[in-house]
Order: sequence, then structure tokens, then C-alpha cells
Amino acid sequence: MHKSGGYVAGGTTPSPTVPVALRRVLDLVVSGEATSRAEIARRSGLARSTVGQQVDHLLHRGILQELEARESVRGRPPRILTISPQAGTIAVADIDTLSTEIAIADLTHRVLARDTVDIPVDSGPQAVLDGVTERLLGLLAEHGRDPARVREVVVGLPGPVDFQQGCAVRPTGMPGWDGYPVAERLRESFLAPVVVDNDVNLMALGEASQDNVDTPLLCIKIASGIGAGIITADGDVYRGADGAAGDIGHIRAIGGGEVLCSCGNVGCVGAVASHRALLRSLGIPEATGEDALHGAHALAQLVANSDPRALHALRQAATEIGEVVAMLVHMFNPRTLVLGGPLSELRDDLLSGVRAVVYQRALPLATRKLTITTTQLGTSAGIHGGIALATRDIFSTPGLARLLAAERGQGGA
Ligand SMILES: [Zn+2]
Repeated sequence: MHKSGGYVAGGTTPSPTVPVALRRVLDLVVSGEATSRAEIARRSGLARSTVGQQVDHLLHRGILQELEARESVRGRPPRILTISPQAGTIAVADIDTLSTEIAIADLTHRVLARDTVDIPVDSGPQAVLDGVTERLLGLLAEHGRDPARVREVVVGLPGPVDFQQGCAVRPTGMPGWDGYPVAERLRESFLAPVVVDNDVNLMALGEASQDNVDTPLLCIKIASGIGAGIITADGDVYRGADGAAGDIGHIRAIGGGEVLCSCGNVGCVGAVASHRALLRSLGIPEATGEDALHGAHALAQLVANSDPRALHALRQAATEIGEVVAMLVHMFNPRTLVLGGPLSELRDDLLSGVRAVVYQRALPLATRKLTITTTQLGTSAGIHGGIALATRDIFSTPGLARLLAAERGQGGA
């Protein structure tokens, strides 16, 4: 379970009084370990009558639903228990430098709708959050989802985030965002708990929540800067003492020389090997009036055409990133390493470059079972991570207490 809550803006926190039996029943359904009353009784060791009572309670509250299985065996078809798709909605906004990916999902992790809001992050928090809020409310309306039944809002920001306070802390290239109360602001619009996290943490969580992905997992995003998200063996985000864990873009690169970084230091890996740094070194503008992703498209084209300057720059960047990653592999010993961001779309050249350095540098014990790969989810990773983070919160004991209290007021589905 998700360890502690992040900053949950506003609202009185109900004391978590969730009956133990109800907790057990719901855990078995949420984890998919049991999908019928009989199975829940078998696995939990609870009396069938107790299970029946708790299941009925959760059905009545609209949190679970019970459907007849399609493939009926002879006699009475079995009845399958799942989380009700009507139990509530999750809203996610993954804010990036040039645009924001938004989505709404139900509590079964199913994405109901997605969209992109094209407002660059340097337009300031007011403009971005207004645009995001308006479009999220639009998606809810278009899909017949009651805004009052949004159970949690998750926001990813492309900079250092104070997870407890729900705001960015001295992010670069984000004027107006430093200390801006993002969580509080969105809570006013959605009247639901709001969690703000670093975008790479969400991306890492999204990748880790895919089937057949082993943890611990390290996810490196190579975009306007370079950042890492760390997922522990238990599947939790490791944020460190202050939320700064994984902020690796300002580690000094071996070949960083005197290249000035936006942080004021020289030679940071983010300043020499990020997507932005690569575009700058090749003289490619990041965006044009017609194409917000011009830089990414132009670089991909150059690499596809085997342009020698572009290939050289890309390999150079891969080597610098590889050096940092090799160090992180020693430090953290992940089972899976995922490279994401626009540079990861140039799959083979980046991947082979990073792999070569990591295997050369890191010790065999750390690399023997290590999988190094590019993102499976691409730009959707943050959305899926946000949904995973929200469902953990919603089905945690305090979250469940809140859900039960809310459903009492709203009267089920
Ligand atoms: Zn720096």
C-alpha cells in the first residue's frame, strides 16, 4: 500500500474507522485475488455470513458491483465481484514543458477519456491550471461523470516538487510556479483531494504498474532536462526526505566541461545530454509557430537520415547519460531501467549507447538480471502513473473511510 498520504489539500480528514472485515474483503477484490463471495471467504478465513454482510454493504454503497459471469457452467452461473466503474472518477494532469496530457479514469484503472492542453508551462500556473481545469471539467461533462464524484486529482509537474505541500520548489523555466499552491488551487475546483508529484515519479509508477515489469525500477526521463523516478521493490515511489530524490539532472557529467546550466553551475548532465541540449547543439529550434514539437520531429528526421552530426551528438549524449546511469545502477541496483522522454523515441541509438556504458561500468552482480529498455507507454506513462497513485490513495484506509462517508451522502451509483 501507498505509505502515506501526500498532501491532501483541505477538507476534514475523517478518522479512519474502516471495519477490519470490510478492509479484508475489499483488498481481495482490489488486488484481483478473489472475485466471488465464496473465494473471499476461503482466502480471508472470514465466516461466509460476515463476507456476505460486508459485500452487501459495499454493493449498497456503490463501491463494488456483482455481475453474472458470461460463461455459465451448468446450474446457477457464478457471480463476479469487481470495483464498480461508477464508484468514482480520477482526474490526472501530466504537465510538461510544452503541453499537458490530461485524462479521466474510473477506479478500475480504465481510462475514460484523454486530451492534450497546449499551454506551455512557462505561461505560468494561472493560465496552465485554468486551461487544465476547464478541459478536465469538459471531459467529465462529455462522459456523464459527476464532478462531485471525482475522488482524487493527480498532477505531475516537470520540476522539483514538495510532495507534502503540493507545489513546485524553485523549478527552472517555470516562471510563477515556485511555491504556487497547485494542490490548493485545484481542490477549490474539484472539491477532492489533490496530489502533486514530480512528472518523472508518475512516469516511473506508470511503467512499473505494467504487467511483467519487475521492480525495483529506475526511470530516466530525457527531455528539457534529465530526471529520474525511483520505484522500490514494493512498488512505492521513493521520494527521499524532501521529495528531491531522483533529481539527477544536475549531477556533473564527465564531458560536461564549462557548459553553463540553468541552475547556475557548469557541466550538469542535463545541460549537455538532455533533449533540449541536443537540439541547441545542432541549432534546431525546439518549437515553431506551426509545430510545438518541431525539435523532436526534426531531430528524429536527421537521425533517420543518418545525419553524421546528429548521430554524433546523440551518441555523445547517450555516453554521458550512461555514465550517470551506471552510477545509479551501483547505488540502487534496479531490476528494470526505463528510458523515457522524446529522446527515447530514437530508440536504438540512445539505448545501445546507454547500454554499452552501463555494462562496461557496472559490476556483473548489478547488471546480470538488469533489463534496460525504452518506455512502453510513451507520453501515456505519466497518466497511468497518476491513476495508479490515485487508486492506492482511494483504497488506502483513510481513503476508504472518505469514500464510505461520501457514498453515504451520495447514495451509491
Ligand atoms: Zn545544473
